[in-house]
Amino acid sequence: MIDLNNIEVAFKIKSDKELRNAKFLFSMIKHRFIVRTLGFMSNLALKIKFPISWIVKPTLYRHFVGGETIEECFPAMNRMAEENVKSVLDFSIEAVEKETEIDRTFQELKRSVINSGQHAAIPFSVFKPTALTTDNVLKKVSFGEPLTAGEQLSYNNFLQRFDALCAEAVKAGKPIMVDAEDYWFQKAIDDVTEDMMLKYNKETAVVYATLQMYRHDRLDYLRHLLEFSKQHNIIIGIKYVRGAYMEKERARASAGGYPSPIYPTKNDCDNAFNEALRISVENCDRIHVFCGTHNEESILALMKYMSEKGLPNDCPTIYMAQLYGMSDNLSFNIAKAGYNVAKYLPYGKVRNVLPYLVRRAEENSAIAGQTTRELIMLRQELKRRKSLK
Ligand SMILES: Cc1cc2nc3c(=O)[nH]c(=O)nc-3n(C[C@H](O)[C@H](O)[C@H](O)COP(=O)(O)OP(=O)(O)OC[C@H]3O[C@@H](n4cnc5c(N)ncnc54)[C@H](O)[C@@H]3O)c2cc1C
Repeated sequence: MIDLNNIEVAFKIKSDKELRNAKFLFSMIKHRFIVRTLGFMSNLALKIKFPISWIVKPTLYRHFVGGETIEECFPAMNRMAEENVKSVLDFSIEAVEKETEIDRTFQELKRSVINSGQHAAIPFSVFKPTALTTDNVLKKVSFGEPLTAGEQLSYNNFLQRFDALCAEAVKAGKPIMVDAEDYWFQKAIDDVTEDMMLKYNKETAVVYATLQMYRHDRLDYLRHLLEFSKQHNIIIGIKYVRGAYMEKERARASAGGYPSPIYPTKNDCDNAFNEALRISVENCDRIHVFCGTHNEESILALMKYMSEKGLPNDCPTIYMAQLYGMSDNLSFNIAKAGYNVAKYLPYGKVRNVLPYLVRRAEENSAIAGQTTRELIMLRQELKRRKSLK
């Protein structure tokens, strides 16, 4: 049985100073009051350019982000690669609305896709489709509402850019993942992703959709994708996550008077997540998997399904992934056992990464158990190292 909590393996690449910083950080974000204040300050920073960088950069940013540019991520990427943990460079950008800004974002995303082809330590590229057009356009298309001439132009540009990134991934020889965000935009994104799979996933999975398994309609959607794959003889790529916007989705649904798209309980969500993994492994000739989770039970379930199916640990069509700065015990111990592992390594300016950082702080604060576990492991490793001196 694999030990996912070997702390020596988990923190091998971290210096004592980095461990002490991480310990300080997790002991702060354990407190809801501090996280709420951070959320408030970051909203202020985005609205009125209130300076917040001085507090965020040496703390949250340093722990959860690779740097401001692709090149600044290389030291973190290379250190992880020595232990067989790969990186997925994730360009972070706040919602952009102007065409010139959208185009600048597109150019950076293209650079990131090209870059994936140049490094063995980068197995995938990724992008947020919401960065390629306005929220309004995606929402209207998702709900079948008519577009104005200007919106239609923006949507056409969106389709072209989406396709260009996928074509660039083919050239790079590395698959590309399409991130999922708000429920409101997802129908439009799913439809384009399916078109891209039809175009590029003939021999292997180049384009990966993201399924947020906290949504109660996603197991049906998975079954639809499986049929779609058989019907068109293509390979489906899927990144599985639970979903990062639960509270926002529930609040929106109740304000908008429509049923919440989210399962009522965590248990329902966990069952759906694991069931999706089971179905995917069972159909591994049709579905390639990128399993993004910090949940130990889901990882053990995936390992069990793989072993029952007779797949080797390093099965090339299955990846497990965590976020940079979180659950190193899982990433490094899974990699040591020979599985394919990657970490999402975000990069971008402090201002653009702020919403991501607040989400990470809130998430870690919400899962008190998870934060406590991180803290216990950090303390244990510092103590272990001290005893060796
Ligand atoms: C590599 C990677 C890529 C990611 N990419 C995306 C992405 O593209 N889009 C995205 O939205 N998120 C993304 N995430 C974040 C992810 O969706 C989760 O927020 C995060 O990973 C926490 O879930 P978990 O599986 O790690 O663990 P857990 O701690 O076991 O689960 C927490 C999650 O369970 C769900 N949940 C909690 N309570 C309930 C409840 N009462 N009812 C129903 N569900 C509940 C929520 O989704 C919550 O975030 C990514 C995560 C990783 C590791």
